[in-house]
Amino acid sequence: MSTLLLKNAKLLVTMDPQRRQIENGGLFVRDSVIEQVGPSADLPATADHVIDAHGMAVLPGMVNTHHHLYQTLTRCLAQDDGLFNWLRTLYPIWARMTPEAVYVSAKVGLAELLLSGCTTSSDHLYLYPNGSRIDDEIRAAQKIGIRFHATRGSMSLGESKGGLPPDSVVEDEAAILKDCQRAVETFHQGHRYGMVRVALAPCSPFSVTPDLMRESAALARSYKSPEPGGAGGVRLHTHLAETLDEERFCLETFGKRPVEYVESLGWTGDDVWHAHCVHMAADEIALFARTGTGVAHCPSSNMRLASGIAPVKAWRRAGVRVGLGVDGSASNDSSHMLAEARQAMLLQRVTGDPGALSAQAALELATLGGASVLGRDDIGALAPGMAADFIAYRLERLEFTGALHDPLAALVFCTPVGVDLAVVNGQVRVQDGHIVDLELQPLIARHSAISRAMIRDEKVPGQRGDW
Ligand SMILES: [Zn+2]
Repeated sequence: MSTLLLKNAKLLVTMDPQRRQIENGGLFVRDSVIEQVGPSADLPATADHVIDAHGMAVLPGMVNTHHHLYQTLTRCLAQDDGLFNWLRTLYPIWARMTPEAVYVSAKVGLAELLLSGCTTSSDHLYLYPNGSRIDDEIRAAQKIGIRFHATRGSMSLGESKGGLPPDSVVEDEAAILKDCQRAVETFHQGHRYGMVRVALAPCSPFSVTPDLMRESAALARSYKSPEPGGAGGVRLHTHLAETLDEERFCLETFGKRPVEYVESLGWTGDDVWHAHCVHMAADEIALFARTGTGVAHCPSSNMRLASGIAPVKAWRRAGVRVGLGVDGSASNDSSHMLAEARQAMLLQRVTGDPGALSAQAALELATLGGASVLGRDDIGALAPGMAADFIAYRLERLEFTGALHDPLAALVFCTPVGVDLAVVNGQVRVQDGHIVDLELQPLIARHSAISRAMIRDEKVPGQRGDW
């Protein structure tokens, strides 16, 4: 048993049902779980580990609901292309990935996320060349100490069968399903506070067959949830309704709009979340609300690829579950959660409604919304019984000066900054703005060497190592 006390926070934002914001607040943690939250004066006087959060804003750790960590290796390519041409440029480069590339890139992306305030991330890894496995990125997440929802992605519909990806990067469907089963049975921790969970994630309507969608759903749903109400089960994830090109593809190939198509395959429900969903009709939004289907909203990527503006306001009005995703680093090209909350807030306003998404609402998407989309009731808020996942930002700084009459708004409106403190599952992972046990420079150097070699189609120089 060990205890942790955080006290004297200038502002503690709970995201609890009352949305309490506590001045001079703190919290008390036993092992990995929050036991008390309140004014510092009401908390135990001491603990095994005491953190003085004087001058800081403390928030629940943010939750990233969509990413492709391997894409940190291929940033700033196909800079002026839309989704399909962007993908056609990148597939052959991604085909050169190795297990080491998956591990190193995941470590880089997760370090960047953690330093920006994200304590739970999902990742969508959907191509496995040269012996790569989902295990490679799960190992990276365990080293970084972040809570991780690995989604075992897949592509099976190559160019020769009418799909978008080249045949060289697609897998056989029987092998995909067998590896999905292995990944779930090896890594999925469905119990409350589980640090690693696995979801099944065929990549997109234009890269897998309807059969694989159906089989993946049947496999995920064959695992019984260990927690009441379905929490902790094996979830389903894919890309959907991202661009008008995709909509045309679905109408031509399946005779259905993207949402209609996935509905016909059983891909709606409270165990499903879709990335993007930029192009949705009113009845499709109502369907998502009625069925509890979740959405990962990725504003930076939608802007970068000119995909469109997702109907976040309509989703929220209808009661659709919405979280935020930074999306892959080849279409963002960063993994900064606070920056993504800011983008979400700003993008909703450009259609002419300055009140479309407030700073508070953007942070709710980044915390409570993400937790809900990932099917978790143990993260996203600071309250007794929740996992001890929290972050803190120093407020007296150049970026925020002049805005400290409203520290919460400062975080979202002003230039996005990194955290000074991050605690995940009761463990201090970031202190004074640095990950406690990670040397970044050697990791960056190796990542850079792998990236260069992949882009130029050369052999990676030097030795493999545990960077
Ligand atoms: Zn994506």
